[in-house]
Amino acid sequence: MDISGKELAKQFQEKLKEKISREKHSITLAFVLVGKDPPSQAYVRMKERACSEVGIKSLKIELPDETTEFELLELIGNLNSDPSINGILVQMPLPSQINEEKVLLTIDPDKDVDGFHPFNVGKMITGDKHAIIPCTPLGVLKLLEAYQIETKGKHVVVIGRSNIVGRPLANLLSQKRAYGNATVTLVHSHSKDLSNICKQADILIAAIGKPLFVTKEMVKPGAVVIDVGINRVNDKIVGDVNYSDVKEIVSFITPVPGGVGPMTIAMLLENTYLLAKEQNCSLS
Ligand code: NAD
Repeated sequence: MDISGKELAKQFQEKLKEKISREKHSITLAFVLVGKDPPSQAYVRMKERACSEVGIKSLKIELPDETTEFELLELIGNLNSDPSINGILVQMPLPSQINEEKVLLTIDPDKDVDGFHPFNVGKMITGDKHAIIPCTPLGVLKLLEAYQIETKGKHVVVIGRSNIVGRPLANLLSQKRAYGNATVTLVHSHSKDLSNICKQADILIAAIGKPLFVTKEMVKPGAVVIDVGINRVNDKIVGDVNYSDVKEIVSFITPVPGGVGPMTIAMLLENTYLLAKEQNCSLS
């Protein structure tokens, strides 16, 4: 069965739109885009459109490719101290003269809608209930919850150890929490016997960035497969999982597009709302 992230994201966004309109508060998310990378421009456009659909204002700041690190950090400092800005998203990747870690450290943790600031990462890893959770891992947890896919006691294999997807997901799924309590194996580019490890998974999550990497031979019949990958192949978007091959033998699978992607955007809106609410206690 397909897990429709598209449908679930729509439901989240409708609820959020209703809450924002009822509470009549102004929420603004600042997008900072450095350079003219076409995929980054497309991502920011999609996120802006989603903001406007739920009633979140967006402020897009576009900077040239040759922007210095100092100039970007100064801009972030100004956004940090601007009370009309509730959230800040700096679209990655950044040009090579800018240190991404420094940028993440400069964003005020209270305006960090991506949950990438080390302070927020620390809160998440230690299981703080109020932690801002990075959008893609949060989207995956919400999908599992919506489809009542129990993780307690299950063997989850996560392929990929990036700071934005694989590593936080592996951590969250092993925590003592609803849709946690799993036995988690995290595999990566140096793992040996990867195919056999994947085949032991009750829930297999692919976040690699390699088109159609996961094939039927790597999946246990009846398993749940979550495909985080977004890869462009000949003008088509495909996941990290060979969907048509694997679909036949699994109980649940997320399609690409229409699976995890829309949930990432919905969770960005949710995180922006949560941060705005914390900044303005009068939001109910
Ligand atoms: P990344 O490049 O930062 O990390 C990829 C990980 O995969 C690395 O940890 C690496 O060790 C592992 N890997 C690479 N080759 C491997 C191999 N042969 N065997 C095992 N592991 C291997 O990527 P990322 O930012 O985590 O993104 C992963 C994918 O998810 C990409 O396709 C990206 O576009 C997509 N993505 C989708 C969403 C979404 O909303 N759906 C959000 C973020 C990223």
